Amino acid sequence: MNKKNLFKNVLLAALASTICVSASAQEKEYPQPERMRPGMSEYWTPQPSIVTPGSCQGNELISPPSDAIILFDGKDLSAWESAKEEGGPARWTVHDGVFTVDKKTGDIQTKQKFENFQLHIEWQVPENITGTSQGRGNSGIFLQGKYEIQILDCYNNETYVNGQTGSIYKQTPPLVNAMRKPGEWNIYDIIYTAPVFKEDGTYRYSPTVTVIQNGIVLQNHTTILGTTEYIGFPKIQPHGAGPLILQSHGDPSEPISFRNIWIREL
Ligand code: MG
Repeated sequence: MNKKNLFKNVLLAALASTICVSASAQEKEYPQPERMRPGMSEYWTPQPSIVTPGSCQGNELISPPSDAIILFDGKDLSAWESAKEEGGPARWTVHDGVFTVDKKTGDIQTKQKFENFQLHIEWQVPENITGTSQGRGNSGIFLQGKYEIQILDCYNNETYVNGQTGSIYKQTPPLVNAMRKPGEWNIYDIIYTAPVFKEDGTYRYSPTVTVIQNGIVLQNHTTILGTTEYIGFPKIQPHGAGPLILQSHGDPSEPISFRNIWIREL
């Protein structure tokens, strides 16, 4: 090593040592961070609103929670209209605290439009139901008027799995078959998140849905791929808030009934 290089190396070593001393001196000057306590990861405001849960007494219906919008309480179809003639009355038959599909008059829809929601709806396949596959108690709930959650009598009735009760129709089959037999009431609880669209009309965030039938999960935060088409594949159609549509299916089997329908906007 020549003199020039030796000098350079000594200088660099001295400089490095000065930096280390200086860094360790600085560390000593800083206060030690406070030790983590439980309260540091807790926040207290805003508090969630208090919602009174519905009561359950014997065989009585579970009453809606205090903040629900009532869509059918056994009295009339005033929250609904014809889907065929917008603004026209919903002409399905109300009787004995329930209403029954009138296949002659077509689909009905809520007058109110919704974005994200929790829906509770009960439905019953008549005890004397006939027919097979898709022709047996077929109806459905179209979320935002676009995406059908299938209703069908799947109690001892085989059909294509992505058309079963609780399927996102022609897209995703239910995780299980949780049907009660004809004559008994089935309960759907549906939690839906509406899509967000990009400027080009495609999904920025796809819609998602969780479907629970009689307390059993059928869809677990499932992504909806697009509209639920009878023929063809899902389409992506930009839309805003939309109604719930109940399907009047053209099959010749005995019509199903609904009761106790309420919704909570999320
Ligand atoms: Mg259907």
